[in-house]
Amino acid sequence: MGVDAAISPRPRAITVERTAGTLTIVWTDDHVSTYRLAWLRQVCPCASCNEARRAAQEDPLQLRVGPPPSDRVVDAALVGNYALRLIWADGHDTGIYSFAALRASCPCPQCNDGEPAGLAPPSPSPSTDASGKEPS
Ligand SMILES: [Zn+2]
Ligand SMILES: [Zn+2]
Repeated sequence: MGVDAAISPRPRAITVERTAGTLTIVWTDDHVSTYRLAWLRQVCPCASCNEARRAAQEDPLQLRVGPPPSDRVVDAALVGNYALRLIWADGHDTGIYSFAALRASCPCPQCNDGEPAGLAPPSPSPSTDASGKEPS
């Protein structure tokens, strides 16, 4: 029992500490991950944030118009049983953080020794399939 915890990590408890600005997940294997909300916002996996980060990389001097993204979470909701959706104070709510990615991105010394540059890819697809093309 519990052998599949490493394959599909499940949270046992999720706590948003608004004053500390952190999100803490206690996993079913008793591992505890604490993420800074500011970091979670930075690595928001939604399409528009991905696009914004890509654009920023291509043009580091790009002028940003508008208020900076909020790092305050007003609400959090489960998506099925595999992910967490965070609703930010500025209304941004399209980021869906899969538990697998969160666990893989755990910033504790055992896992990553600090915050990774980005959220782990949601589900590494098997790379052996070469789009069904057959050499003839
Ligand atoms: Zn986003
Ligand atoms: Zn960890």
